[in-house]
Amino acid sequence: MLYLLGKHLSLQLDKIFKLAQLISEHNNELALLETNNTGKTLFDSSKIEIPLVAEIFRYFAGFATKITGTSQSSFSALKITLRQPVGVCGLIVPWNFPLLMAAWKIAPALACGNTIVLKPDEKTPLTALKLLDLSNEAGIPDGVFNIITGTGNVAGEALVKHPLVKKISFTGSTTTGKHVMRNASETLKRITLELGGKSPNIIFADADLKAALRGALSGIFYNKGEVCAAGSRLFVEQSIYEIVVDELKNAAEKYVLGDPKEKSTRMGPLISKEQQTCVLNYIERGLAEGAKLVCGGKKANVNHGKGFFVEPTIFASVDNEMTIAKEEIFGPVLSVIPFQDPADALLKANASEYGLAAGIWTKDIKKALKLTHQIEAGTVWVNAYNLYDAALPFGGFKNSGIGRDLGFCALEQYTENKSVWIDLQ
Ligand code: NAD
Repeated sequence: MLYLLGKHLSLQLDKIFKLAQLISEHNNELALLETNNTGKTLFDSSKIEIPLVAEIFRYFAGFATKITGTSQSSFSALKITLRQPVGVCGLIVPWNFPLLMAAWKIAPALACGNTIVLKPDEKTPLTALKLLDLSNEAGIPDGVFNIITGTGNVAGEALVKHPLVKKISFTGSTTTGKHVMRNASETLKRITLELGGKSPNIIFADADLKAALRGALSGIFYNKGEVCAAGSRLFVEQSIYEIVVDELKNAAEKYVLGDPKEKSTRMGPLISKEQQTCVLNYIERGLAEGAKLVCGGKKANVNHGKGFFVEPTIFASVDNEMTIAKEEIFGPVLSVIPFQDPADALLKANASEYGLAAGIWTKDIKKALKLTHQIEAGTVWVNAYNLYDAALPFGGFKNSGIGRDLGFCALEQYTENKSVWIDLQ
């Protein structure tokens, strides 16, 4: 198979468009598969994620005919740059948004004329395999889009170490990302890393409180908190701290947990027993280090005991130095931390090894803009949280990664630059 992949095959824009169309036509089937894959609600799969996947392919299909270089000419020389495909790209994705994270990488890689080998997470291969069927139907030639399933230790390692693979684009944990980078360095592969986060979401006293509360809740509880950009550290201005904590508690206690296929369900089960145990251990750690449990904190006994549920959990009186405020939990656990003024909020927000995303809630646009410049994060949402667009690059500062998915930036990640000098003298 890798022999076939080594050949460069240029793709037609209409085939990527066709794939986008087929994804939309199979929206409900893909959504059900994704819900079975992950435990996320069918509402989120069918109304948000799979439509976004189609949108990503539609957006990048258009680029296939618009990848250009530069030119500079004089009487003595014509100097041009070409953007060429990198070659075989190994794309490794996690289990939290299996098809969406794959689409972020597959669509630009194909649009740039590369061949790809996708490795989905071992827990969530179903939608990726269906996508491969659809890509065949769309007319993407054999050998261009390939999948290897298997564990990270075996299939992932083999892909990263393979000498014919020229680029690795990896999304996953920071620990694995560092390991992938070490392995990829042996063959000097091009590399993009989208890693973990511990994102600050900052509410000022002058914010539209209703909107900020909605943003704080979806920031941490969307997709059960299994979101790299989850706003897991909520910084609240001291004067409104108590009221915010009370309102969050009231709202969190109303979340309906259960079968993710039921319409009434707001939050499904976590991905696995290991993840459930990991999240519960963090909750115990929070209690042991003196944080005040406001609500949740336990396994939820719903859905006839089937599934690895954890209650939406909120901690108050959290200190920035506590483990729950420092480490990525990747579950529905929110730390609410008070701050005094913008300088205090900034200091606390940036006191993290991560730098993936941030939220700012205020009606004062000057304050928001100043903080936007100062916050160390790849994405800053102002009066919003968890919004994504195919045209807006996504990726991290610091230990949250290297490089960017989405937008024009993605095209740079999947092409090599070649400079050509044509002497005219
Ligand atoms: P993970 O690092 O355990 O696994 C991610 C992928 O890497 C899986 O496909 C896995 O099989 C593979 N893998 C594991 N070991 C490997 C190895 N030695 N060599 C090659 N591949 C290997 O991460 P996870 O637990 O599946 O995902 C959760 C993490 O992903 C969280 O930290 C989250 O923040 C991060 N994430 C980041 C983004 C982003 O855009 N920055 C998006 C989604 C998730």
